[in-house]
Amino acid sequence: MHTIYLDHAATTRVLPEAAQAALRVMTEDFGNPSSLHHLGVRAAKEVADHRAVIAAALGCKADEVYFTSCGTEGDNWAIQLAVHHGRHKGKHIITTAVEHSAVLEPCKALELQGYEVTYLHPDATGHIRLEALEDALRPDTVLVSMMLVNNETGFLQPVADAARLLKRKKSNALLHCDAVQGFLKVPFTVKSLGADLIAISGHKIGAPKGVGALYVSPRLHPMVPMIRGGGQEKAMRSGTEATPQIAAFAAACKLGHTALGEHVDYLTELKAYTLDKLQAEVPGLVVVSEGDAPHILAISLPGYPSQVVVRYLSDKGICISSGSACHKGKASHVYAAMNLSKAVRDGMLRVSLGPSNTREEIDALADALLSATRELVAAGR
Ligand code: PLP
Repeated sequence: MHTIYLDHAATTRVLPEAAQAALRVMTEDFGNPSSLHHLGVRAAKEVADHRAVIAAALGCKADEVYFTSCGTEGDNWAIQLAVHHGRHKGKHIITTAVEHSAVLEPCKALELQGYEVTYLHPDATGHIRLEALEDALRPDTVLVSMMLVNNETGFLQPVADAARLLKRKKSNALLHCDAVQGFLKVPFTVKSLGADLIAISGHKIGAPKGVGALYVSPRLHPMVPMIRGGGQEKAMRSGTEATPQIAAFAAACKLGHTALGEHVDYLTELKAYTLDKLQAEVPGLVVVSEGDAPHILAISLPGYPSQVVVRYLSDKGICISSGSACHKGKASHVYAAMNLSKAVRDGMLRVSLGPSNTREEIDALADALLSATRELVAAGR
């Protein structure tokens, strides 16, 4: 059965160029970057080159990029770094109710350690209002953590405006941005975003799972290590570098960065087609979010439980999601924060597009959703 993959916000197929880069490093240039012999020297040089590729895509200096194992690690580390930096200034954190659990869970852990966390709620359109941030800001606020693109709705949050607000208010707070869903989907640079910490992840952009990166502004120095040991990553994250994943991450990043404008145009056009097609052909379908980002849209089939529809489509070879893959079927805090009716929430479906998707695949999705509404009704749901 041919698989139609429309779940790119969950993860992506590894690009052939990325897989080849990893294979080469695993089988030929397999040295440990800390070794003194020629294979080690070559591996160290390659890691430096790959770091420069990631830095170029982020628009920062190579020594401001730290490799991590995933976006979750980057978010956790960023939050730790920020609260350590602000430890003598206060114990108040502001984040949003629609962040990924990679941000919400470390914030909850800090609450147990005496931090106070303000969770900004989105307005009726799903966006965080800047005024809400301004109202929540206090002299003892040490961190504002706001995602760039929401993984369940595709909404863009006003991160650059938040950075300007913090500056205008002469706030002590550092700004962390979870840019895992925005990196190479929505054009931005460290400068345009204005964040002090930015987390990204490889497996959302055509690299394998197990690699990510964190941008850390020089403002954060001196930093606290994430992992202590042999001194890799400038002694901030010890452990032998994951050279195959790093090579693949850089290969995918180079391709994605070069094609960014082309991909944005293509995905924007394909998303508009998807919305038109689904609205025209699937009765009862509700568009919950057209998403600001070009690749994510959230729809609902009220009356049809998401998980049943997702499994039905999967049996037809079509992969979409009922929300964030990390929820594994648990009710979404993002949809709850948006004040959607229960019927709409229970029927939520997320379609997330990639550059390899075609209009024919969208036509197949529309057909399958239409037959779902017929057959699942016939089966008594
Ligand atoms: N942040 C957002 C917005 C995400 O969508 C995800 C993954 O879905 C993560 C963080 C976590 O990234 P990773 O899977 O690399 O840990």
